[in-house]
Amino acid sequence: MRLDATLAWPFFDAAHRSHAERFETWLEAEPSARFDADALDDASVGARTRCWARDLGAAGWLAPCSRLDVRAIALSREQLAYRSALGDFAFAMQGLGSGAISLFGTAQQRERVLPGIFAGASVAAFALSEERAGSDVAALAARAQRSGDGYAIDGEKCWISNAGIADTYVLFARTSDHPTKGLSAFIVDAAQSGIALTRSIQTISPHPLGALSFSGVRIPADARLGEEGDGFRIAMATLDVFRATVGAAALGFARRAFDEARAHVMQREIYGAKLADLQIVSGMLAEMATEIDAAALLVYRAAYAKDTGAARVTKEAAMAKWYATEAAGRVCDRAVQLFGGRGVTRGEIVERLYRDVRALRIYEGASEVQQVVIARSVLKEHSLG
Ligand SMILES: Cc1cc2nc3c(=O)[nH]c(=O)nc-3n(C[C@H](O)[C@H](O)[C@H](O)COP(=O)(O)OP(=O)(O)OC[C@H]3O[C@@H](n4cnc5c(N)ncnc54)[C@H](O)[C@@H]3O)c2cc1C
Repeated sequence: MRLDATLAWPFFDAAHRSHAERFETWLEAEPSARFDADALDDASVGARTRCWARDLGAAGWLAPCSRLDVRAIALSREQLAYRSALGDFAFAMQGLGSGAISLFGTAQQRERVLPGIFAGASVAAFALSEERAGSDVAALAARAQRSGDGYAIDGEKCWISNAGIADTYVLFARTSDHPTKGLSAFIVDAAQSGIALTRSIQTISPHPLGALSFSGVRIPADARLGEEGDGFRIAMATLDVFRATVGAAALGFARRAFDEARAHVMQREIYGAKLADLQIVSGMLAEMATEIDAAALLVYRAAYAKDTGAARVTKEAAMAKWYATEAAGRVCDRAVQLFGGRGVTRGEIVERLYRDVRALRIYEGASEVQQVVIARSVLKEHSLG
């Protein structure tokens, strides 16, 4: 992957450049089997995810997640997604699953849980969604009832990445009936009795995903993050940090699809010339390249704003996630088209990218939710004058 052009942008400092270059060297030295392994089977996806988390942690590559360095997280996700959807996913979940603890945990909570996650020895998960509460977080029904000197948790969670393989869940549950101010966040040890994986969910791209049930799961009071009622704020602030980095992963998929398509059209013979010589094809390449750059600018603008002290980057992150994931979908689709029949053949890289990129327009806020967020923000800016 050619990083030099992006790294020359003013969003990055010398430490980011050095980090990205060293990470690239590490990735290039990895055996290609690690990346190819993503392609086909779902059966061992959990074990592979744990393996990615362990190796990234052991080599120190999860450090950007511990510092919440959004530019370094974004660059890492872009680099990983270029090669492996599962590698990107394992990296992202160690960040998202620990983010609420990094942001809102007490010193004791952070010391207890975070070192294992950043060393890759312990796998993290973020358990917010439920069957009837995805985009509509306020509809969340799982409950945390005061019980003795702690809480008892009951409820179901659905679409949880790393369900069943995680060691630690940051779990959101209701402590009162207020739609948003009634939510609280808890650190839950996966070994606790009463937690069961009720269903593994197979998706179009290998991803350890499942539904969980919590039945009378007892946790101590000091497992709560922040105060009772802070859960919605904690979830939104955590997503605020990581949302733009979903756009970065999309960017990695799009760059790979572009590189594959460009190489293909330059060598594919057609009508006695090269595919790249057809004007409509060069127009497609121009669109792909421009959309990739536009997405990158939005992603790194949001990451830069967060890193340089903006309290909230809700609008910028929503723009980055929405535009980059939608654009990457279009880029991967065009790449498939340019490969013709090969493009839809199992085992082709562009076929895999076409599947890998799809879920990004849904999770951590569907595209339409991002549009609502952006519109709300620009309307508010207008009313403030
Ligand atoms: C691969 C994958 C991994 C995931 N990992 C996690 C995880 O680790 N932790 C976790 O808590 N959750 C996770 N999720 C859940 C994910 O966040 C939800 O799927 C997502 O928020 C959408 O919720 P939903 O599926 O219930 O769809 P719904 O909320 O029912 O939405 C369906 C569709 O309705 C439209 N829509 C929704 N709201 C609006 C609106 N306001 N205006 C216009 N249209 C709208 C959108 O097109 C949306 O896609 C994951 C999902 C996937 C697919």
